[in-house]
Amino acid sequence: MSDRLPGFSTLAVHAGAQPDPTTGARATPIYQTTSFVFNDADHAASLFGLQAFGNIYTRIGNPTNAVLEERVAALEGGTAALAVASGHAAQVVVLQQLLQPGDEFIAARKLYGGSINQFTHAFKSFGWNVVWADPDDIASFERAVTPRTKAIFIESIANPAGSITDIEAISTVARKAGVPLIVDNTLASPYLIRPIDHGADIVVHSLTKFLGGHGNSLGGIIVDAGTFDWSTGGKYPMLSEPRPEYHGIRLQETFGNFAFAIACRVLGLRDLGPALSPFNAFMILTGIETLPLRMQKHCDNAKAVAEFLAGHPAVASVSYAGLPSDKYNRLARKYAPKGAGAVFTFSLKGGYDAGVNLVSKLQLFSHLANVGDTRSLVIHPASTTHSQLDDAAKIKSGAGPDVVRLSVGIEDKEDLIADLEQALAA
Ligand SMILES: *Cc1c(COP(=O)(O)O)cnc(C)c1O
Repeated sequence: MSDRLPGFSTLAVHAGAQPDPTTGARATPIYQTTSFVFNDADHAASLFGLQAFGNIYTRIGNPTNAVLEERVAALEGGTAALAVASGHAAQVVVLQQLLQPGDEFIAARKLYGGSINQFTHAFKSFGWNVVWADPDDIASFERAVTPRTKAIFIESIANPAGSITDIEAISTVARKAGVPLIVDNTLASPYLIRPIDHGADIVVHSLTKFLGGHGNSLGGIIVDAGTFDWSTGGKYPMLSEPRPEYHGIRLQETFGNFAFAIACRVLGLRDLGPALSPFNAFMILTGIETLPLRMQKHCDNAKAVAEFLAGHPAVASVSYAGLPSDKYNRLARKYAPKGAGAVFTFSLKGGYDAGVNLVSKLQLFSHLANVGDTRSLVIHPASTTHSQLDDAAKIKSGAGPDVVRLSVGIEDKEDLIADLEQALAA
């Protein structure tokens, strides 16, 4: 082997995988088993006491999932990762390691609709209080910091309008406050943006979207950047204090720069239980092999579709950071020079009714609540994903009544434009 560091496309195909040592299988096998035989009693005891790494039970770890974890950690530039059942499960497991009841975390207001719900309602019942800030106003994050703040949560490319977040500016606020910055990198994927390079301490993904990429398998992942010191000020007892369930070991002291990933596995996943099926891990690994090819095509198509819409008389405005006139174009050129993603919104002069009508007339675009599929997708957020918000909150989160969201797929761009043309004419 040369001592050249492998490039992104090579890592997307190979990181974490090797031919199966017993059978020679080249593709990563699906280890469809719940449990693993111990060598002897001492081996079993050392696995349970965290003195040795190895497989015990698929709720805590599985060899197929381990390849996925190593691959995404390599693509994101982190020290370790933990795969879980969904993007939402990743968010619960991350925050459970950081917040005690009564604590707060600051979240960007522009988020996936499901995350807004999860943070506002489900997390409140755990005693975790979300404080909203505006990603276009960095000072609003600074103002939101209190002694109870334990984390800051943002999306790199934000739902629904595909706006670009100034990760470095917000990471400076997080560093000053002494709390980790968590970045949901779902819409960018590490092909477009690697948040750890810009100061993120933890990256989360819905693997369901671009990483899996084919709209067939749910999954989520947590990547530990290995950069945060969890021992300062006793703020993060899950990581810094002796753990009674593991003979009093301190995770940060024992596991150093991958302690957070370990905490998520042995305290979060073990006890909360949202394990990823090895079958889904296999499907997502297969998807990741073509991530660089797909993502580039997604972005190129999205740009062509956005340009077409920007010139159409029925369209009031297009919010796509890849357009030179867009207010996020400067940030897009800095953070996502290969392309500004494939999820964006546009608004129609005909308002709410025109939005609903367009969605019903499109044929190639599927009307559904997902993004990051090979297929092109469309939704009218105000009547679906963001319908639970009041009108002011809809507009603030970029989902006003006249707004339509697209997730542009990898079909021929001429066909996508023709479909939009006929639906807008109808
Ligand atoms: C879909 C999505 C999630 C939630 O992921 P699931 O896999 O559906 O649980 C979180 N964040 C973003 C940006 C998403 O698009």
